[in-house]
Amino acid sequence: MKKYPKDQFFDENLNAQRNWDEYILKTAKEEAQKDPHPHLPIDQLIEDNTIPSFSTEEEEEDFTTELWYSNDSFLNTIMLHFIDNVDEKTRHELRKFFIGKLGPQKSPNAEARNRKPEIDEGYLITYNFTLDFGISRLTEVYASYIHYKGHIGEYKKQLGELLLNNYMMLFNLEKFNPAYKRNLPVHIQEQYNESSYKHYFGATAFVVAHEIGHHLLKHTIVKEDSMMITYKNVFIDKIGTNIDHEYEFAADDFAVDFFLKDKRYELYNKERKIDLNYLTSPLYVMLALALDTNDPTAVDGDHPPIRDRYLKLLSKLSNYCTEGEIKLLKEIFRDIVQGIQDMYKPWIKVWWE
Ligand SMILES: [Zn+2]
Repeated sequence: MKKYPKDQFFDENLNAQRNWDEYILKTAKEEAQKDPHPHLPIDQLIEDNTIPSFSTEEEEEDFTTELWYSNDSFLNTIMLHFIDNVDEKTRHELRKFFIGKLGPQKSPNAEARNRKPEIDEGYLITYNFTLDFGISRLTEVYASYIHYKGHIGEYKKQLGELLLNNYMMLFNLEKFNPAYKRNLPVHIQEQYNESSYKHYFGATAFVVAHEIGHHLLKHTIVKEDSMMITYKNVFIDKIGTNIDHEYEFAADDFAVDFFLKDKRYELYNKERKIDLNYLTSPLYVMLALALDTNDPTAVDGDHPPIRDRYLKLLSKLSNYCTEGEIKLLKEIFRDIVQGIQDMYKPWIKVWWE
């Protein structure tokens, strides 16, 4: 009997959401009903794009349409985007993927699950809410930072307050105040939303492409009769070698190329230059992971230090832009990381230089 990745995911995670969008909307509605003066009114959340708006009954029925590649519509969209932009052979493989989104866990995590080709019909990736949430909050910090820095008009002070609020949100969600964004003029809000959407899309696409990389580079194949530990990319016979580190770097490399090389992507502008909001986004995945440790220069179990992955990513990204652009990305990243360090001191040493 062949096993499909979607079935495997729901068999192993009995409480997993079938449809994350539906779940989030339902939860938000319940919260709103419970509290007559909710801290975050649902209308506001919809207006701020925090949750999707499905206002009419007809639209709500959209939830029943099949999510082929994930139990989350955004991850599904990313898979469709990849499927649209790869060669025929890769497309054939991508159609066998399923990305199962899990709820909050202790640490941010995405994983390409080991597979036995004799049994497994496809490829399973799991992606937890904790990583997604970390990325989305950092996206807000990034978007407010670049708008604050780039703005020379009368809204500088408000953009600074928005940036500060987004920094605080990283460590204390209660501090979230939608008014900071809402009070900005519409055209600035639109620009802000555009950069944050692109950045969030890019970062999420990078994570997905990284895990696709582990699968397509055959890091996840387990022989039927082997004694290897399953469910984790740690193989018993590899203890003492650095091969898992090589796998991580290879998957990062794969992910950047997979996401960025195709010129048909909407991420290239008219001058065939890549949009910097997309280009810089993989770095913030590293930052999301770094927020989970006090020393990103240390080896983390089977994973290489985040600092090493960050530096390798920077040099990989430099294949896709000019020297000046990579310098700019570095400066923005360092400023943002320094800002976090100044406010909360999450790290015992400087890892981003
Ligand atoms: Zn990996």
